[in-house]
Amino acid sequence: MTYVVTENCIRCKYMDCVSVCPVDCFYEGENMLVIHPDECIDCGVCEPECPAEAIKPDAEPGLEKWLALNAEYAKAWPNITLKRDPPADAKEWDGKPGKEELFSPEPGQGD
Ligand code: SF4
Ligand code: SF4
Repeated sequence: MTYVVTENCIRCKYMDCVSVCPVDCFYEGENMLVIHPDECIDCGVCEPECPAEAIKPDAEPGLEKWLALNAEYAKAWPNITLKRDPPADAKEWDGKPGKEELFSPEPGQGD
C-alpha cells in the first residue's frame, strides 16, 4: 500500500504535501510531484493537505497508471521536503480536464 499523486497535481504543484510527510518520500518533476511507493509508509497524512485533491490511496480503483508513473519518476527526480511558492497560475489549472497530456518527464529543482 502506498499513496499516489495523480493528474490534478500537474501544473498545480502546491507542495503543501511535502511539509507533512514523515518519511520525506516526495520527488519533484518540472510540473508535478510523485510519491516513492517503496518509501511511503501509508500514513495518509498528506492526502487531506493537498488543495488539489490529487493524492489518493492506491487501493482506489483505476490508479494503476499513476502508481506506475509515481514509481518510475520517484527514481529519476530529486527529493523535495521544503514547500516553495506554487506556480502563479496554479489556481487556473486546478481541476482542468486533460492535464495528463501536459505531464513533463523533466526533473524539478528539488530542495
Ligand atoms: S499538495 Fe497536491 S497539488 Fe500540491 S504538490 Fe502536493 S500533490 Fe501536487
Ligand atoms: S501517505 Fe504518509 S508517508 Fe506516504 S507520502 Fe503521504 S505523508 Fe508521506
